[in-house]
Amino acid sequence: MPELPEVETVRRGLEAVAVGRLITQVEVFGPRTVRRHVGGAADFTARLRGRTFTAACRRGKYLWLPLDDGQALLAHLGMSGQFLAAQQGEEYPAHLRARFSFADGEPELRFADQRTFGGLLLDETAPNSAQSVPVSITHIALDPLDSSFDRNGFSAALRRRRTGIKRALLDQSLVSGIGNIYADEALWRAKLHYARATDTMRRADVERLLDEVVVVLNAALRAGGTSFDALYVAVNGESGWFDRSLEVYGREGEPCSRCGAAIRREPFMNRSSYRCPRCQRSPRPGAARW
Ligand SMILES: [Zn+2]
Repeated sequence: MPELPEVETVRRGLEAVAVGRLITQVEVFGPRTVRRHVGGAADFTARLRGRTFTAACRRGKYLWLPLDDGQALLAHLGMSGQFLAAQQGEEYPAHLRARFSFADGEPELRFADQRTFGGLLLDETAPNSAQSVPVSITHIALDPLDSSFDRNGFSAALRRRRTGIKRALLDQSLVSGIGNIYADEALWRAKLHYARATDTMRRADVERLLDEVVVVLNAALRAGGTSFDALYVAVNGESGWFDRSLEVYGREGEPCSRCGAAIRREPFMNRSSYRCPRCQRSPRPGAARW
């Protein structure tokens, strides 16, 4: 599942490839990709034709391109959605779902999605929102890389919750853009166990963790994301290499680079959590929320 760094990498690609361009034609292949668009494929393509993408925006893992008429193209990458820049006539990728042509010619923009959990829809943008946020995602919290992210507000809200710290990091209404991989990495760096009760954390603990979240997300961004899945690629078709830098995620049984203890994998919310048993000790019973 693409997380913030992967989506940001795609956003930057779209900024270079799509913004400022007048759309002349859109083709949608099969109904699934626009299943969340109320009017269906015909309405989707008709409303895009003649419009211009004015920006490429992201909040957490959500990606959207505002148009010049107050709407926005909202894209969910799902498990395997990809935007690809291509020359017209270039061979179609497998699982091509949509194709955008522009008045100025090359390149065209393609949306491919093997597993079809991703999708595209047009949404109205919220009035007076700085980034023309689509109405359907206004409830999503800002992410820690956003210049408007409120660290004090986050810290206070987190410490009011009665939950475990990793659950809180994954809660998109509290903070967006942190998925399983980067949560595990940031917790390892901050030497915190994933079940640490948020209401027992000191403000300084939260600050330290936030700093590590930002470090991990920025490092992943510089690497172009994590190619944890061969299906994830940037708009230029290249996959990221941050997976080589992962300290705990996917490293069960390997030695912790800090202390040498074997990394553990434990079941967590129908997925897994990876931690160092020595650097990230289990909290005492009163300070844990599983
Ligand atoms: Zn360790």
